[in-house]
Order: sequence, then C-alpha cells, then structure tokens
Amino acid sequence: MYTIATIYSAVRHERIQIADPQLEIVDLAYDTRKIRNGGHSLFFALKNVRDGHLFLQDAYQKGVRAFVVSQQQIDTSSFPEANFIWVHDVLHAMQELARFHRLQFRKPVIGITGSNGKTVVKEWLTQLLQKDKRVYQSPKSYNSQLGVALALWNLSNDYDIALIEAGISLPGEMSLLENMIIPDVGIFTNIGAAHASGFSSKQQKLEEKLLLFKRSKQVIFPSRYNIGAFLPKMVAHFSFGSEDHDEVRILRLEDHGRLDTRMQIAYRNEIATFTIPFRDKASIENILICLSALLFFGYSLDAIAHKLAQLRPLDMRLQLKTGKNGCSIIDDTYSNDLASLQIALDFLFQQQQHRRKTLILSDMEGLDDKLRQKLVQLLQKQQLDRVILVGAGLSFLLDQLSGAVELFASTEALLLALQSMRFQDESILIKGGRVFHLEDVSKHLVAKSHETVLEINLNALEHNLQIYRAKLPQEVKLMVMVKAFSYGSGSYEVANLLQYNKVDYLTVAFADEGVELRQHGIELPIMVLSPDEQIFESLLAHRLEPELYSFRVLQAFIHFLKRRKVANYPVHIKIDTGMHRLGFMPSEIEELISILRDSVEIVPVSVLSHLVASGNSQHDAFTQQQIAVFDQCADTLEQRLGVKPLRHIANTSGIVRWPEAYMDMVRLGIGLYGVDMSNALDLEMVSVLKTTITQVKRLPAGETVGYDRKGVLHRDSRIATVKIGYADGYNRRFGQGVGTMSINGQLVHTVGSICMDMCMLDVTDVIANEGDEVVVFPDVMKAASAIDTIPYELLVNISSRVKRVYFYG
Ligand SMILES: *Cc1c(COP(=O)(O)O)cnc(C)c1O
Repeated sequence: MYTIATIYSAVRHERIQIADPQLEIVDLAYDTRKIRNGGHSLFFALKNVRDGHLFLQDAYQKGVRAFVVSQQQIDTSSFPEANFIWVHDVLHAMQELARFHRLQFRKPVIGITGSNGKTVVKEWLTQLLQKDKRVYQSPKSYNSQLGVALALWNLSNDYDIALIEAGISLPGEMSLLENMIIPDVGIFTNIGAAHASGFSSKQQKLEEKLLLFKRSKQVIFPSRYNIGAFLPKMVAHFSFGSEDHDEVRILRLEDHGRLDTRMQIAYRNEIATFTIPFRDKASIENILICLSALLFFGYSLDAIAHKLAQLRPLDMRLQLKTGKNGCSIIDDTYSNDLASLQIALDFLFQQQQHRRKTLILSDMEGLDDKLRQKLVQLLQKQQLDRVILVGAGLSFLLDQLSGAVELFASTEALLLALQSMRFQDESILIKGGRVFHLEDVSKHLVAKSHETVLEINLNALEHNLQIYRAKLPQEVKLMVMVKAFSYGSGSYEVANLLQYNKVDYLTVAFADEGVELRQHGIELPIMVLSPDEQIFESLLAHRLEPELYSFRVLQAFIHFLKRRKVANYPVHIKIDTGMHRLGFMPSEIEELISILRDSVEIVPVSVLSHLVASGNSQHDAFTQQQIAVFDQCADTLEQRLGVKPLRHIANTSGIVRWPEAYMDMVRLGIGLYGVDMSNALDLEMVSVLKTTITQVKRLPAGETVGYDRKGVLHRDSRIATVKIGYADGYNRRFGQGVGTMSINGQLVHTVGSICMDMCMLDVTDVIANEGDEVVVFPDVMKAASAIDTIPYELLVNISSRVKRVYFYG
C-alpha cells in the first residue's frame, strides 16, 4: 500500500493535481467493470479497446479518486477531490510503478519465458514448491506488458519466492518486461514457431527473449537450443539435456506402461530414475524444466521423484457451466491462490445472468497471518451473498465476512450437506486447490442434461473489437452489426459489451431486435435495416432509426411522422451502388433530394451503401466503382440539401481491404464474431458450439448406423451418439462423414445421416466416453466449405433452442 504522494514520486510525470497526498492506494484499476474498492484504487487511463480517458467519469462514480492520465485537457472541476497524475504514457507509468514495487521485494524472483509451456511450468513449479515455500506466481497467463505489471503489483514480502511469466510478440517488448521483473533467476522453456510474425527471424525472436535474463545470476534452460552462447557472460548456466556439460543429464527416456514415461537422470554424482504420469513430448520437456529447477533450488533427487509423480495435466480455464435450478457454475478447481482468486472473482462479477453471487472456496496452501489478512480484505470488497468455505484452516473468515457464511471441514462434508442445500438462480464460483477436489462439488451442481450449448467468449469479442478498432483512424466511427441475434451469438449480452466499449452505433435487421435491446438498457443509437410500415410505431416508441431504401417506405414514414406530429426524426438513406438488393438508385437521387428538401419530419443522419465483394480481389475494380458512385451520390445529397450526414459503406472485409472506404463510419459484422474471411488478422473465435456424448457403442463391421442404413461400417467400430441434429442448426449435409467434430482435441467424423435432434460419430480411433464434451465446429471456415456454404450461414443457423452461455475466458 502506497500513498498517492509516494506513487507520483515513483513515476515520471509531467504534472500533478493532488487533493489528498495521503490517499492510500491498494488496487490498480484500468477496467471500470472490475473496480470493487474505488476509494483505494488508482485508475490508469490506458488506451485499450477504447481510450481509458472516456471512462474517467465512470471510475469516479465508482469512488475512484486517483487517476493516471495522458490527455492534457481534462475538466478536473467535474472530479471534486480527485488526484490526477499526468504522464507521457499511461502504460509505461503503470510499469514504472510495478518496477518500483518489485524493488521492494527482497526474495528471489524467477522470470520464466519461452514460446510454449511457460504457463504450465509456472503452475507446476508453484505446486511443487508450495508445500515448503510461500510461492507467489503471476496469475493465469498474465504475461503481457499490462499483465506483468498487474502481476507484480500483488507481490509482497509475505512470499518466499515469486514466479513471473513473461511473453512477447514484438521486438522491443522484452526489455520493458525485464525492467519490471528484474529476475534473479531465469527459466527458458523453448523456442517454437508461435508468434513468429512480429520477428524477422527465429534468431531475432530468440535473442529478444533472452533479454529477460540480462541481469539474472543464473538461467535454467534445455541445452538443445544452444542458447548459452547468446547469454550475457555474467550469467551462469544451468542446462539440462544429453550433452556432457549439462548440469542435469538425461540418460534415458522411455515409455513405461500405457500412460507413463520413465526417465533416468544424472546429476552431480548421482543417478536416479523417475516415473512420470505423462507420455507427450511437451509435458516431458516441461517436467524436465521443473526437475532442473528443483535441483537448482537444492531439492534431493528422492524428494523430487516423489513430487513429480503427483503432477497432473492442467486445465487452467475458468469454465462456465450450466447449473441446476437456473444457476451458472464457474468451475476453477485446479489451483487456489490469492491472485487467481481475484481473477475468478472478477469473472464472477462480470456474469450478468444472475444478481445473486455465491463463492465456494477451499483453503489455500501457505496462508500465514499476513496472507490471511489479504484474503479477508479481498473478500470483504466483494458483494457476495453467500460464502461456503471448505477446510478448517479458513475458520478465521467466519466472523470477518458479512452475509451468509458456512464452513465445512472437508470436501466430503460439503458433498454430504449439498443434498439439503438450496441454490437457485445464482452465479456460483467454485474455487479450490487441486487437493480439495472441488470438481466433485461442481459435478453436483452442474445440470446433468446432455445439453448442447453455444459458449460465447466475451473476452474474445472484446479482443476482436480491439483489433478492428486499431485498424481505424480515431475519427472514423464504428457501427456494429448485431443483426440475426448478433450472428447467432445472442443480442443483449453482446450489445451490452459493445455499449460498454463505446462503439458508436448498433444495427439490427428487425425492429423487434431493437426493442429487445432497448428493454435491456441499451442506449446506443440503433439503426434498423429494411423496416416496413407495420413497425413504424415501434420505431418511434423505442427511438430506433430506420434505414430508408425506397420511395414507398420514405413516403410512408414521412406520412406516419406527419400524423404523429414528429419532426426531425433521424433516418438513414440507403443507396444502391451495385448490390441491387435495397436502396435508391443513383438515377433517383434528384427525386430523393426534392422529397427530403420538403420534409421537416426526417433528418438524414447518415447515408450508406453496401459493398458487394469487398473481400474478393477479383472484383476490386467493381468495389472501386461502388465507392466512387457512392461518393458522388453522397456529395450531391450534401451539396443540394446543405446537410452533412455520416457516410458509410465498408463492412468487415472493407475494413481490412479498403481504407479508402472508411469515410465517416464503418460497419463491422462477422469479423467481430471471430471469422476472418481475409485470414490476415489474429482474431479469436467468439462462439463455440458444444454438445456431449450421450451413448457409446461397439458395433461389428457390416452393421449400419442411422436412417436408411446410410452409415455402413467397414470395420469393427465404436460409435458415439451426440445430441445435436438439424433442428439445432447442424445441417443435414454434414452427414456421411462430411462433418468433423472434436472430442478432447481429437478430430472425428459423422457417420450415417444427421437426425433431427442427434447424430452419430465414428470414435473408433480416439479416446471418447459417455459424457465427454464435443466441439461441433472445431474450424468454422472448414466446416462451411465442407458443405459449400459460408461461415455466416452456419453461425446464424444455430437454433435458438441451443442455450447461449456467456463467459470471460
Ligand atoms: C450484414 C451487413 C454488414 C456487415 O457485413 P459483414 O460482412 O458481416 O461485416 C454491413 N452492412 C450491411 C448493410 C449489412 O447488412
């Protein structure tokens, strides 16, 4: 905890305006949705998806009285009693503060980097060390410029060791991370092809990564990358591999039984044999890194053998599941420490579905008085309706928390009691260390229906939004298409996020969709595509703005407004420049002008057209022509009417391929949902359609599967039935092996015809059991082309009976 006075002296600033130098800062904030302790938060106006300066008032409303900003013009009179620190670069200021805080930490800091495996190594090392040391680890994959700063902020001398992960994607980034982390000891996992795009060569990427260790005393690394030569002279090596000079020598690696690997290791004068519960290459390498690190820390080979046998694969996702009685279950039962608890709680409070929030929390390793105090503070900040504690070690919380608090001595005791406990319409976070097996509690609370769900990752949506936003000059406005149920993703949750991120406009296809958004508190301007007369009333009632595309609707709407004595109603004028779907033809502009000039009822706030083939280079000449024709029509409208409506013509592919078509505004559609027709962007898929295996059976060669005996088995087979069919939007053309799904990461094909509510998969060659989760479209682009359609159709056809589940992942 620092006072604001300490903080502004720790960061380079241009000027300050301080109301209370003694104000104590506990939390760093940059996302107003996550502010829980406003009065003691320092808000950084970062330029993220949207410029953080747009959120200053919002933060202020949440009690924040301390801001780090870069924008010169801020009307500080509307922030009474607030403290402002002006800096050149807000993110750098946060990093400087993180560095300042890091320098207060007097125990070893271990910096971990590499292309793959760094998160796994960090999590595993934490588990391995946790019994003997108080370990601080950067939470989840907080390894970016922002993530590392936030991770370091929570470090304190209550810990014995800190494991901090560093990830980069561009040259120049590692020096900034190194300057914050200043690792005493380094761990290098490996170098792979991932994220090579920002670098000119693999060598450049490697050298950049190694900058993390420029001040380290020692670096642990696999010798096969031969990185020793690139490390600064002062840095001592601790390598493992099969070379004579390796500190840890691998003598033998061999499969052992069905699932294990046996390894023989030489270290100093000892030779030891371990059995580890993994067979895959990546896990073995990660274990070798952990093993070397433990030897480096002075553990004996015997102690290590025992520890390694306990390791299990990691599933570090926060999983959002559909619970019984209308509950949502957030399952985060792999590890438990303060930092990851904080993230899980943020996630809990971002769930919009339920007002009631419940936390089920297990005891943590290594809690001493100080960490207990931190846990109390963390939990007191949350507005939890109910807290269920597992493990007698947490009894100190009983009289520290308001609301309903219960304590169970063990997971078994809680499981017994669950039978008579009631949960209804609430979001329940289950957070526990692995030894507590809270996944058993999760299983109890999760609805057993073998439901098909569409999981919608709102983080991914935000990520994609940021990618497109970054392509656009600041003055270009952004309209987002949320038509067709947001391309299948569900309207209101998506719109809510877009509103939070301050997009400029939303567009729906029908008035009903707009009405629903208004009813859920969406205040953004909304354009309605192709309206007709029946819905004029509802446009007016809900402030929805029609796109007018023909003289018939234009006249009808004006007539309607006249009767209702409404003037200056905002409308959008659609010009047909070649799509030949809806819109006024360029030849009709004169007539259009004469009507608009005589009508006080409407104001054209925008004029738009639609590109036919913005994503298709074959038709670039035509696109150019569309842009020219549109500009000409818009010029004429502007000059003759003396108005300046917004011009917009570019859709997603237009944003990527046609900067000259940005004009005043662009209309982002499918790209936001993660489908990149251009294949040039680093988008994340927003929605994942999932189902589960209902039954698995063995069938001999010669049997057939499904209607009309279409699925003939040519070999002895295992067939899995999943509950998704054409009524859910899984097209019948995916039958007979055309459809590909994924089970536990393994690809499988359909067999036989797709039924209305189910279909069958050939799982002969993979590990698949009843109850396993199945991803229906592991690759939407490939799936679409397999049945000769486009991803748009697959997404919007996912039936509304498929439940939508939203999460931040
Ligand atoms: C759907 C739609 C868009 C968005 O198109 P994408 O290719 O999904 O980006 C833009 N403008 C209009 C008029 C649309 O109907």
